Amino acid sequence: MKPVIALVGRPNVGKSTLFNRMTKSRDAIVADFAGLTRDRHYGNGHIGRREFIVIDTGGFEPDAVDGNIFHEMAKQTRQAVAEADVVIFVVDARAGVSSQDHDIANYLRRLGKPCVLAANKAEGMREGVQLVEFFELGLGEVHGVSAAHGQGIRDLLELALETL
Ligand code: GDP
Ligand code: MG
Repeated sequence: MKPVIALVGRPNVGKSTLFNRMTKSRDAIVADFAGLTRDRHYGNGHIGRREFIVIDTGGFEPDAVDGNIFHEMAKQTRQAVAEADVVIFVVDARAGVSSQDHDIANYLRRLGKPCVLAANKAEGMREGVQLVEFFELGLGEVHGVSAAHGQGIRDLLELALETL
């Protein structure tokens, strides 16, 4: 069985961009508008010969939304996390910690599923200095990555797979 990795995080942090990097595909549609990604959720990826499945979250089919986008996104996150062996929790290195990040972090801590914290959009940032605030999420070390520039992705994947 291939391990399953779920990407979770609030809208617009770069989950779909990261999904595309991890799967080397353009299957997930990257939106410039928060919450409007209509993505396909599953993709195949590999590092070396190690294969995995990755789940993107935060997209929705327009006719599946009963008027409450946030309700739908929370449901998707729960479903993806339930299916996953390990979670990559994506936050926005440039935006800093938000209350939504805290809500998701609390949920993930309660579940106790293996989780790796990734601060995306960290291109050009000094990890040790500028990302320390993310420690307050209580999920341990934060790993700076740039999905858009392809930086830190391989290390992130190796860390995620090492938790298994
Ligand atoms: P999602 O809502 O979490 O799936 O986020 P998306 O992948 O749709 O990306 C949201 C926005 O962030 C888009 O405008 C992306 O181009 C941008 N973005 C994604 N990754 C990076 C990154 O590594 N650096 C920067 N600067 N922007 C990024
Ligand atoms: Mg998306």
